[in-house]
Amino acid sequence: MPKLMLALDVLDKNEALKIVEEVKNYVDAIKVGYPLVLSSGLEIIEEIKKLCNKEVICDFKVADIPATNEKIAKITLKYADGIIVHGFVGEDSVKAVQDVAKKLNKKVIMVTEMSHPGAVQFLQPIADKLAEIAKKLKVDAIVAPSTRPERLRKIKEIAKLPVITPGVGAQGGKVEDIINILDENDYVIVGRAIYQSENPKEVAKKYKEILNK
Ligand code: C5P
Repeated sequence: MPKLMLALDVLDKNEALKIVEEVKNYVDAIKVGYPLVLSSGLEIIEEIKKLCNKEVICDFKVADIPATNEKIAKITLKYADGIIVHGFVGEDSVKAVQDVAKKLNKKVIMVTEMSHPGAVQFLQPIADKLAEIAKKLKVDAIVAPSTRPERLRKIKEIAKLPVITPGVGAQGGKVEDIINILDENDYVIVGRAIYQSENPKEVAKKYKEILNK
């Protein structure tokens, strides 16, 4: 059974911590990104961990030259358990992050195809190749879309790596359509459908129950 990862893309620190407190019994990991880290600083990760002691992944979709990627990884992985990087910039850029992560015993997760409609424009045509690169580099996991279950299946087949998959809920993806593709090492990412709901706790619980079926 796949696990549940909360995408905590809120702009207010107190709101973020309140949501974590509400849903902590139902989520297995938390993904933070630019919205929360730019508004609250990387230290928010320490505060989240104090509240719930779950893995926190930084979704920075790092996409720079190796020397800059290395610096971004160093500062991010001081706080986070893992970091999301882009692969389209080339293997050397991903490797630079892996070198840092290895020393710190942290995770590197690589984007293949994104979940939004615009991803078909530039990313989808190279996504299978990116999945092959992810496999070759032995990254810890890949990102692939719940919004296109057939693409999720194909990418997972190519990479043969754990998948974290966004797109369920606000972007229209349904757990029922992807659950059979996933296994116990994979994560379903849900953001707005949980944190923008009237009752985040109940919605997180509902997703957890569906995943546990
Ligand atoms: O709110 P929602 O459930 O759509 O959140 C999905 C999360 O996953 C967001 O943090 C978004 O940035 C991220 N993401 C995505 N598609 C990708 C990679 C990351 O939606 N391919």
